[in-house]
Amino acid sequence: MPPSLQKISQSVESRSADEKYADVNWDELGFGVIPTEFMYIMKCSNGGEFSQGHLTPYRNIELSPSAGVLNYGQGLFEGLKAYRTEDDRFLLFRPEENALRMQMGAERMLMPSPSTQQFLDAVKQTVLANKRWIPPLGKGTLYVRPLLIGSGPVLGVAPAAEYTFLVFAAPVGIYHKGPAGLNLYVEDQLHRATPGGTGGVKSITNYSPAYLAQQQARAKGFSDVLFLDSVTGKYIEELTACNIFILKGNVLATPAVHGTILPGITRKSIIAIALDFGYQVEERVIPVEDLLEADEAFCTGTAVVVTPIGAATYQGKRVEYNTGKGTLFHKLRETLTGIQTGRLEDKKGWTMEIN
Ligand SMILES: *Cc1c(COP(=O)(O)O)cnc(C)c1O
Repeated sequence: MPPSLQKISQSVESRSADEKYADVNWDELGFGVIPTEFMYIMKCSNGGEFSQGHLTPYRNIELSPSAGVLNYGQGLFEGLKAYRTEDDRFLLFRPEENALRMQMGAERMLMPSPSTQQFLDAVKQTVLANKRWIPPLGKGTLYVRPLLIGSGPVLGVAPAAEYTFLVFAAPVGIYHKGPAGLNLYVEDQLHRATPGGTGGVKSITNYSPAYLAQQQARAKGFSDVLFLDSVTGKYIEELTACNIFILKGNVLATPAVHGTILPGITRKSIIAIALDFGYQVEERVIPVEDLLEADEAFCTGTAVVVTPIGAATYQGKRVEYNTGKGTLFHKLRETLTGIQTGRLEDKKGWTMEIN
């Protein structure tokens, strides 16, 4: 280990030995960037492989003004959480799924990607180095953000020659604060994804184009937008950064993923839990009329966990949904977070303990 890294790892140990928690007001956590002490960085250049990744103090990174990511948006991100259990163990939830999804995205964006092992190592090291920022159980979680970017300079529109894989982390609380239940606006003009595009991968290019729709909806008092398919405008797809489910009777439905919807790991987990509960689960095309006739609706994602939808408005027609106790979303959320935080037995092997 080079001396500089030795020093870092010593300082990681000495710090974490004397204090269990960083100086953070755990009761005020939202979804902002509270910097932690370390990040992980690894590079890959000229068609080689990623190697020599290491922890480094959390800091600004230097990029050429002609870096591929800055000019042409060659970049991907991931998002996962580290959970503190009641007895102070640390768990990750299905992290190899994030590693695989980054590899799939990298293929689409013509980038090299870290191997699953490299990805998991980087995440584990980042979490453990920053373990004082993993909030107390019940107050929040440590959000982990892996990034893969074309960092090499490039002027013509082409893939970069150098790539950087970064992992940083920040303690987070609840994503959507405010009254229970999102007030959704069904967006029928602007679109998020097109067939053959990048909607099915976590490309950084998918997010800022949704800001305008979000901002317009928020100005009218809505909390987020639900996008429709860009070909017919008849079928619901997903929100800006989370998937959607609707319940009618005993049937839980979510839009099928065919390249325009991000295949969420929370989505996949909720499908499995709902099947265990005995619900019929359908992955299919969902006409917007089905949303308007549903008994219950909720969205899923690492950041939002399982968040109920209180109302949806489509072309001036507003409908409301059950959000009280006894609703399915509540049961699903309790089970999911129970597994994630070690409160419930993990019969599916979804959690990975790190130490
Ligand atoms: C990340 C993301 C999701 C949720 O995926 P999870 O793996 O559950 O966190 C859903 N939709 C979009 C557009 C996303 O970026």
